[in-house]
Amino acid sequence: MDFVSTRDNNQKVSIKEALLNGLAKDGGLYVPEILPKIVLADFIKQNTFLDFAKALLAPFFKNSLFEKKLPLICEQAFNFDIPLEEVDTNTFFLSLNRGPTLSFKDVGARFLAGLFKVLNQNLTIIVATSGDTGSAVASAFSGYTNIKVIVLFPKDKIAKRQEAQITGFDKNILPLAVLGTFDDCQDLVKEAFSHQSFRETLHLTSANSINIGRLLPQMTYLAYWSTRFYQSYQKKPGMIVPSGNLGHMTACFWAKQMGFPIGELVIATNANQTLSHYISSGQYKPQKAIPTLANAMDVGAPSNFERLQYALPTFDSLKNALQIFSVSDKAIEETIIDYFKRYRRFICPHTATACFVRESLSKDKPFIVLETADSVKFDTIIEPLIDETIPVPEALSVLLKKNVTQTVIEPNFSSLKAVLS
Ligand SMILES: *Cc1c(COP(=O)(O)O)cnc(C)c1O
Repeated sequence: MDFVSTRDNNQKVSIKEALLNGLAKDGGLYVPEILPKIVLADFIKQNTFLDFAKALLAPFFKNSLFEKKLPLICEQAFNFDIPLEEVDTNTFFLSLNRGPTLSFKDVGARFLAGLFKVLNQNLTIIVATSGDTGSAVASAFSGYTNIKVIVLFPKDKIAKRQEAQITGFDKNILPLAVLGTFDDCQDLVKEAFSHQSFRETLHLTSANSINIGRLLPQMTYLAYWSTRFYQSYQKKPGMIVPSGNLGHMTACFWAKQMGFPIGELVIATNANQTLSHYISSGQYKPQKAIPTLANAMDVGAPSNFERLQYALPTFDSLKNALQIFSVSDKAIEETIIDYFKRYRRFICPHTATACFVRESLSKDKPFIVLETADSVKFDTIIEPLIDETIPVPEALSVLLKKNVTQTVIEPNFSSLKAVLS
């Protein structure tokens, strides 16, 4: 299959080019040339999640250099549980917090790492992070000999536990604490890409959520669980997705377009209201991101919006396909307390946005809430609210015990360049 730019569908590239370029030459994002339509019975027959995932992803990698390796890439990427559990009548939790760095981003990052391994090239991946992306990418690529990963994070502005998950890995992972904000980190990445000689010498590439290699695998568990759900209850479950850059929702939308039995699509955002303003006013105005408790969703200009708009080009089509709710920090805190009181469950601030939205939707319809990260990463927010200690899993406590020395840089390109030479 070929991939086209959202800005020009005559501009076709192979999956390999789409992966390495990240962004299309015209500034658009890559989307599959066509979304294959499935026969549900073929997928109902698949016995395991792995077989299901391999069958779903196969058409996207057909006739590419990844085709033969796809089964192995899936086996190595999807090596942890993604269970669905009923929390209350018609409310289900899809737990995406069981990967090595305890967020759903492990799925995309591990799959992307598998693809890059097949390319077998010397590459430098540069990524700016406000938390979960950096740790998932660092963990997924740790130990790869021909790939170096530079992770830029704002010094002292991310949770200590998130930081431990970025800094505790092999030599090929270079964590850099930037004396600035997350926006400064992102600007540094952009600047690094704009210096052509730097970019070429290092074979620079990116691993952020616009990369198609991270989006495609996210369809698998959404498609799998909607299919199993439909088999059990003969109903299509709605999906409530805690969203920032809309990568997860794009994957969910694509899975639905392919014919998987997914019901209503619901976007939960934090107090960043670019999307809810758009739906209520018809005007799309990107904003500067404001910091919230759900920091991985602090996005004022959602990068994957362009992919959704490509598939839903008119305002009405988009408005009819998606529901959007914005959730305040106060509501996040109340929901964390409420879930603990009602169900003895620890939920992270991101998941809490979706749980809050669930309450305003019909109780007669089934909804799946995506649990996008584990509460243990956000102990400093959650524990004071519920006056309870969240148990720390073994893998994280190992990382927390490591003694790491930090490399600190100024928020400018010459400081970045200096540590790399
Ligand atoms: C990245 C992230 C999100 C937002 O996902 P998008 O694909 O950017 O919409 C939500 N929750 C958590 C925990 C995340 O790390």
